[in-house]
Amino acid sequence: MFDIIIIGSGPAGMTAAIYARRASLDALVLEKDAMGSGQIAVTEQVDNYPGLPRIGGYELGEKFREHAEELGASFSENEVAALTKTDGIFTVFMKDGTSVTGKSVIYAAGTSYRRLEIPGSQLLGVSYCATCDGAFYQNKTVAVVGGGDTALEDALYLSRMAKQVYLVHRRDAFRANASLQKQVAQTGNIVPVLCAVPTEIVGEKHVEALKLLHNDKPEDLQLDGVFVAIGSVPNTELLRGIAALDASGYVVAGEDGVTSVSGLFAAGDVRTKLLRQVVTAVADGANCVASAEKYLLH
Ligand code: NAP
Repeated sequence: MFDIIIIGSGPAGMTAAIYARRASLDALVLEKDAMGSGQIAVTEQVDNYPGLPRIGGYELGEKFREHAEELGASFSENEVAALTKTDGIFTVFMKDGTSVTGKSVIYAAGTSYRRLEIPGSQLLGVSYCATCDGAFYQNKTVAVVGGGDTALEDALYLSRMAKQVYLVHRRDAFRANASLQKQVAQTGNIVPVLCAVPTEIVGEKHVEALKLLHNDKPEDLQLDGVFVAIGSVPNTELLRGIAALDASGYVVAGEDGVTSVSGLFAAGDVRTKLLRQVVTAVADGANCVASAEKYLLH
């Protein structure tokens, strides 16, 4: 039996593994993808992690992982299907039929892309990852849908390869930070399309156009690709009916990671919090181990 089972291998999970090993606790990290490091792996550049300005997201994720491995954390590639707690022992059931037991669990499963649910969103050429698929759009025309930090970062990234990038947002102002808004305004081939609600993606097999209601009037943008960046949803289906979740599905937990289930802690983007960033995720990972240590002593 493990002292701590960590579900998720993003910055929060990796930091939990590092802190657990430094406290000489037996920790197992369960990850959906082998060698994964969460959403950070598909972030082109991280500009706000102290001490490592402009580090690549993938590189930062790799560094976290190497650190955890160096300290002897165990990893297992397995997708979790269910979680139970009986007589104080947690059992984590995997999709492959196996299971593991632990005295405590740190839940750090992160978030997934929110899907754009309109007709045509299954067409080839609809992507949720600019850094993964941007290279296919050299000198082509694309749209990014969304108005947050991710959408503006994606538009800036794509502007370096695409001929033109429409930045389609449903409101009259972006919610992204001021620095990103300034960079977008200074980039000639990004065309903001505000007050525009996507209604359909059109094409035979591959995307050919995006239909909008622009200022309440129908409009078509002819283009080659649509990048969706409309936020995230927490990966907490597993905890439904087990731990308290808020109305949006995030695990109700404070800075100490303590949830409504004793011995179950939540770290990173999955928990209720003000700011979802790498720096707050790693802090959560450390705090959850401190909370778990206290729990394990009793
Ligand atoms: P977000 O801040 O939740 O923004 C989502 C955007 O998509 C909003 O503009 C929203 O519109 C729009 N949207 C939502 N549902 C939509 C729909 N069905 N159709 C059309 N538009 C829709 O998500 P995010 O940009 O992925 O950022 C998530 C978190 O990560 C934030 O806390 C952000 O600060 C952080 N982040 C930080 C950085 C950085 O610091 N460099 C980079 C990336 C992300 P409304 O504005 O109308 O709500």
